[in-house]
Amino acid sequence: MSEHFDFLVVGGGSGGIAAARRAAEHGAKAAVIEHGPLGGTCVNVGCVPKKVMWHAASLMHAVHDATDYGFDLTLNKHDWSALKRGRDAYVARLNGIYADNLYRSKVKTILGHARFESPNAVSVDGAIYSADHVLIATGGVPILPAIPGVEHGITSDGFFELNECPRNVAVVGSGYVAVELAGMLNALGAKVSMFVRYDGVLRRFDETLREVLQTEMQASGINLQTNSIPQELVKHNDELELELIMESGARHEGFDTVLWAVGRTANTKDLQLDKTGVATDARGFIEVDDFQNTSVKNISAVGDITDQLALTPVAIAAGRRLAERLFNNKPDSKLDYTNIPSVVFSHPPIGTIGLSEAEARKKFGDEVKIYMSTFTPLYYALPAHRVKAAVKLVCVGQDEKIVGLHIIGQGADEMLQGFSVAVKMGATKADFDKTVSIHPTGAEELVTLR
Ligand code: FAD
Repeated sequence: MSEHFDFLVVGGGSGGIAAARRAAEHGAKAAVIEHGPLGGTCVNVGCVPKKVMWHAASLMHAVHDATDYGFDLTLNKHDWSALKRGRDAYVARLNGIYADNLYRSKVKTILGHARFESPNAVSVDGAIYSADHVLIATGGVPILPAIPGVEHGITSDGFFELNECPRNVAVVGSGYVAVELAGMLNALGAKVSMFVRYDGVLRRFDETLREVLQTEMQASGINLQTNSIPQELVKHNDELELELIMESGARHEGFDTVLWAVGRTANTKDLQLDKTGVATDARGFIEVDDFQNTSVKNISAVGDITDQLALTPVAIAAGRRLAERLFNNKPDSKLDYTNIPSVVFSHPPIGTIGLSEAEARKKFGDEVKIYMSTFTPLYYALPAHRVKAAVKLVCVGQDEKIVGLHIIGQGADEMLQGFSVAVKMGATKADFDKTVSIHPTGAEELVTLR
């Protein structure tokens, strides 16, 4: 069997589905090939189930704070398996909604594993599908450290399969996935140790965010071990206990779960990419230009398969803009990758856009001016366990254009979107000064900085 399309998308995740539906909207005969559940990483083992877990963890914090607000509560237990059942059912509903949306958009869904047979044709279970234009949107997969015993640990994918809360977890890694999962596990009752390679978490983030987060993570009970590089993971069979042996010789034992969160790489497994001639970089990501073109004519790539910002809205936006360019006669349509806001769903959460203070100083030297404030949100006026917050504006030049805006603290996740519009529009410190604050909120700190 064979079928020809205008637009063939390999990978039914955030970027692929968005691109295919937009192409079909403009009249293209489009298809999406997906070998797993529809929706990709974000829906199944990323943003969505993670945010559910973050809400559960936030509720646990609220329950503890509630007594200081006069509530007489007794928390009997938290039922992780009930939470998982509810979360899985929600994700399954979303899978169905994605299938319906593709159907209603007249995009053909082909279920199965795609392998390239030539630059413009792929095989799926013996059938051949060809197209005038092919989009590769196969996303990313977690990296595993190359050490003995690595198979005894799990990755973020395995985190979402856990049926109960681990008793004693080692989280290895320092990126946003590591801090998010560590925070959730800690709040929901696990004993958590974090092992980070260098001097702390979130190395690419602004220093103030890193400092506040690290302090708060430690204050909430997470055992943070810096400069720790695992050399081996040993499973003591009889007791089902895991022991991490570090390059330094240090040994950490007693874990029932070890979670590797050391980064992600391009998902080109069994794709037969070599049959296309598409160029990849040294780390295996597909190389693309500003318009998502690969090195091969009529093959594009979007999302985590490229080395661009690995975020769902980025994959979606790049995919839609590509479809506009290819099928709606908009030759200049492309995603502007500057000033993209992002949130870390840590406890407390982080919202960040633009340059960190260090990046700005490197780029603009003495032209940089910093405005910042560290404070305790009003919510914590009563609870015994007070969680700090901080906001920071990184400004440049005479007109104090805001090139970086960073928030950590309660509500940072929801605060950032509105402020990111201002930064994207080129707001200056004077624009923020002219804006009357909303009181009493955490957000008002950003427009009252002096
Ligand atoms: P994906 O969504 O991964 O889709 C790729 C699809 O291709 C998959 O469904 C895969 O099964 C399929 N596929 C691969 N190979 C083949 C093949 N050969 N044949 C057929 N199908 C194939 N981003 C955010 O914006 N906010 C968040 O809060 C957030 N949290 C995250 C939390 C975690 C734990 C993780 C891991 C990621 C998170 N992300 C978050 C990142 C986000 O999930 C990704 O950036 C996004 O899903 C990338 O979309 P994509 O289309 O490039 O790839």
